[in-house]
Amino acid sequence: MHAEENVWRQRYREAITELEAEEVRWRRLEVVLRRLIGRLCLAALHRDPALDVQLDRVAAAVRQEAGAETLESLLPELSEAIAALDRANDLAPQESPPAADSSRAGTEGITRLTAAVGSVLSHLELVPGFAPRTAELRAEIERVADEVQLAGTLERLAVLIGEQCAQMKRERAAMERLLRQLNSRLDEITSFLAGQDAEQQQALDETQRLNRLVMGEVGQITVHIRDADSLAELREQVSMRLEAIDAHLKEFRSREQARMQRYHEHTSRMRLRIAQLERESRALQESLEEEQRMSLVDALTGIANRAAYDERIEQEYERWLRDRKPVSILAWDIDRFKTINDAYGHRAGDKVLRVVGQHLARQVRGTDFVARYGGEEFVMILVGTGPAEALTIADNIRRGIENIGFHFRGTPVTVTASCGITSFREGDTADDAFDRADRALYRAKAEGRNRCVVD
Ligand code: GH3
Ligand code: MG
Ligand code: MG
Repeated sequence: MHAEENVWRQRYREAITELEAEEVRWRRLEVVLRRLIGRLCLAALHRDPALDVQLDRVAAAVRQEAGAETLESLLPELSEAIAALDRANDLAPQESPPAADSSRAGTEGITRLTAAVGSVLSHLELVPGFAPRTAELRAEIERVADEVQLAGTLERLAVLIGEQCAQMKRERAAMERLLRQLNSRLDEITSFLAGQDAEQQQALDETQRLNRLVMGEVGQITVHIRDADSLAELREQVSMRLEAIDAHLKEFRSREQARMQRYHEHTSRMRLRIAQLERESRALQESLEEEQRMSLVDALTGIANRAAYDERIEQEYERWLRDRKPVSILAWDIDRFKTINDAYGHRAGDKVLRVVGQHLARQVRGTDFVARYGGEEFVMILVGTGPAEALTIADNIRRGIENIGFHFRGTPVTVTASCGITSFREGDTADDAFDRADRALYRAKAEGRNRCVVD
């Protein structure tokens, strides 16, 4: 419980640190934005007396670090002054072009402004995820040549800042949600610990109370010993006090027993619950493992299935690539199996599959592998065995199958199988080798069945 609490505390602290860092970033951005507004106000001065009044008010508000509401309240009149200026410009389109020195003043203004915007952008670059667009704007601001271009860039800057603010707000909200969650988790832990403490405190109180009561009685006995008139009276008083002590003790013991019982019930409930959870998770684990195992076993014959072969051949192939020890693959197929099904029924056919499958599995070493590949086809992997040795082994197995001695409806029936053999070769994939074994098998069939052919 303490370890868990420490983990939550640690996360709590990290979350707060993160929030504080976020706060600092915000503040820095705000300072830069205020400065930028101040410079923009300065740059725009002396165009129109009405606009100047509004600009002065905005600049003063920014200097005094006025809040967003104050700044917002200034906006309508500022916008109105700018709009009035625009209208006036529209009415006087044929105004003479600006004089040379005023144009130079304009260029200087733009240079100052682009420098200011560049400084804002350098701060924005620090916000993760916005770097590419910030870089784009930075390149753009360096190319700005006139007021029209500057206005466009500033507009895009405003959009970017707006999006960053929105993102920060979202991050902040997420952080706050996390903090609330952490808080309630901490509350839970604290109240659990407080409950434990209360139990301990209660036990302590009970003991102290008993102590006081006993000491009180003992004190009384001392008084009686001093003041008693007769031995008989003294004996009576003492035995009365001893009885009282006894009663206190009994009461304490029964209370203590009740408390202990509550405690034991609580802990044994917890223990049971934990044991139950452990059992459940073990059962789940076992059933998962069983499922995993079953998914690799052929239900009819009880030997490995095709999925298991696919898995195993990959492993053996990888191993062969590393150590180049020979690996042979044997494709088996029961001869004329269809006739067994047709003559004696499917159950007889199933029995043949089971017996032949088990027989094949018994004939190989522990490091080798046998699977039912499908239908009446089986596949074998012989590790550390080259083609010649594999042929000898396969022929032995083939004779063994021939000699199993099946009986159906009282009639002895001979079952035979054919086998195609190959070994991994340079340049092979695992599938290449299997296909070659399969082709050798079909040659064995074509050459008359009940035989083994090596490719
Ligand atoms: P060949 O010697 O050329 O291999 O002839 P075959 O009759 O063994 O081969 P074919 O592929 O013609 O027939 C295979 C038969 O195996 C057909 C199918 O009904 C039967 N079969 C496939 N799976 C099972 C099974 O699980 N149980 C039973 N009883 N029969 C099966
Ligand atoms: Mg077949
Ligand atoms: Mg067959």
